[in-house]
Amino acid sequence: MSFKLTILGCNSAIPTIDKSPTAQLLNVNERFFLIDCGEGTQIQLMKNKIKSQRINHIFISHLHGDHYFGLIGLINTLHLLGRTKELNLYAHKGLKQIIDLQFQASNTELKFPLFFHPIPPDEEKVLFEDESIVISNLILKHSIPSSGFLFKEKKKTKNIIKAKIEEYEIPIAQLSSIKNGADFKSKEGKIIKNKELTTIAKSPHSYAFCSDTTLVEENIATIKGVTLLYHEATFMKDLVEKARQTGHSTTIDAATMAKKAKVKKLVIGHFSSRYNDLEELLAETKSVFTNTYLATDGSTFDFDTI
Ligand SMILES: [Zn+2]
Ligand SMILES: [Zn+2]
Repeated sequence: MSFKLTILGCNSAIPTIDKSPTAQLLNVNERFFLIDCGEGTQIQLMKNKIKSQRINHIFISHLHGDHYFGLIGLINTLHLLGRTKELNLYAHKGLKQIIDLQFQASNTELKFPLFFHPIPPDEEKVLFEDESIVISNLILKHSIPSSGFLFKEKKKTKNIIKAKIEEYEIPIAQLSSIKNGADFKSKEGKIIKNKELTTIAKSPHSYAFCSDTTLVEENIATIKGVTLLYHEATFMKDLVEKARQTGHSTTIDAATMAKKAKVKKLVIGHFSSRYNDLEELLAETKSVFTNTYLATDGSTFDFDTI
């Protein structure tokens, strides 16, 4: 089971030579979830050797261009490369109209189904769920409706010790119930306790994405204890007034959120282009929450090592 986050873009409003606008790829057991799709995302996917055709779900936080201007290009490329598999798009409702208009103007009929799932701006909802993960939206506070995302791996089953399967000749049909905690009755009628047959299941991973937003106290309980929190830190603390006026966060806001929610690791991003030295933002954030990292383009975070 892999659970890895790759940063494809970490800048705010405008791209720079080494910093693209927001986009991230979450790989959950080789299923690819794209979070935001700023300009140049398809190039960033190529640079990071990620096959874009493997993306089946795209989550767009809000309709400021630095979070979706790469989307039409990416969808068009998937179409030109002959995709037939469905693509699911989760976003605020205006985005469907924007995409439809662009494809109408170029007389493009997509070769694959594009399913649009509107995100409610003021209500938390499960957006996607399967046997291993549940994904819901978080309500953020920004200058326009904005949503965060919470990815929660479901409880993992225990691992059965291979040698015990042979030793007790456990039938395949019973493996599933043992993985879920059942004891086993041997041929001789002896009860073998589950703890003798299994190793402890690893704790499930969780990922919270919060951008663009101010500090939202109401989300602290929802994201409590997540493995990794990505929180925007557009400005350093001396520009707190500017952050408040524009619906953004400072380094201290991001760190405060991480500290209050007792997350394991914090990654900051969405940096204002005014900053050339990101180490200054990192140091300021670490003054409140030590386990903080920068979301530089191309960096990867493996949740198994957190
Ligand atoms: Zn932004
Ligand atoms: Zn924004």
